[in-house]
Amino acid sequence: MNNYIKLQNNLDELNLLNIKNNIDKYLDLINMGEKSVIDALYELSELEVKAKEKRAMNACVKVANFPFLKGIEDFDFEFQPGINKQEILDLKSLRFVENNENILFVGTPGVGKTHLAVSLGIECAKHRYSTYFIHFQDLMSQLKKAHKENRLETRLKHFAKYKVLIIDEIGYLPIDTDASNIFFQLISKRYEKHSTIITTNMPFSEWGEIFGTPMLAQAILDRLLHHSHIISIKGESYRLKEKMEFFANSSSNFVRP
Ligand code: ADP
Ligand code: MG
Repeated sequence: MNNYIKLQNNLDELNLLNIKNNIDKYLDLINMGEKSVIDALYELSELEVKAKEKRAMNACVKVANFPFLKGIEDFDFEFQPGINKQEILDLKSLRFVENNENILFVGTPGVGKTHLAVSLGIECAKHRYSTYFIHFQDLMSQLKKAHKENRLETRLKHFAKYKVLIIDEIGYLPIDTDASNIFFQLISKRYEKHSTIITTNMPFSEWGEIFGTPMLAQAILDRLLHHSHIISIKGESYRLKEKMEFFANSSSNFVRP
């Protein structure tokens, strides 16, 4: 077996497939005097490093439990002119994560709260910040179950440790006082340590109705809002727009000349 074949086998064995797939091209460039050996070796190793980074990035995105994968580039800012695009792009720089600041998206259904929260979450995961997306009701049922089974502290620590925790849809259903107290504990644990992204359809003035007592709601809001960016979206529902377009198109099919 010649050394070229042995090299191919070694690259297979070491799982360096990016080098393996590109080595012929680089050997040709070296032979033609168009690349030095050192440049070729460096560029080949760089291909492998980049691929490794991409795999790690994809793994972070996968474990983050996003309901869909949509980026900020998929968001139509023209449809929602009330949103300050520059502010969202600044959040995309992820300074808020470094400063342990929170983001709260507030607005009626369909205006893009979850979309923007997910987009920012994807950026965080891609930059290898531990990120997790969870619906508020799901979070609360997990924490209540843990409480019943005497392992609340462990579960709280689990959710407290994420660098970025996205809690979606606070306010669709109210929760009882025990659950509100548990949620307060989680928010207190994360306060000034990590970033929490919230989406809610309820104005803050009505959070007393979600958490049973205005005092608990106030305590939770105090900690969430202290270092925060509030993105209040007042606009049309994108879901409704898509529905209207669908009906407009299908009814036009029935129009006879
Ligand atoms: P909300 O969380 O405010 O109820 P979503 O973020 O779930 O709304 O948005 C509903 C659907 O509409 C999603 O599929 C989302 O990707 C899409 N959407 C919402 N706003 C926009 C927008 N401005 N541009 C593109 N897609 C949007
Ligand atoms: Mg939503």
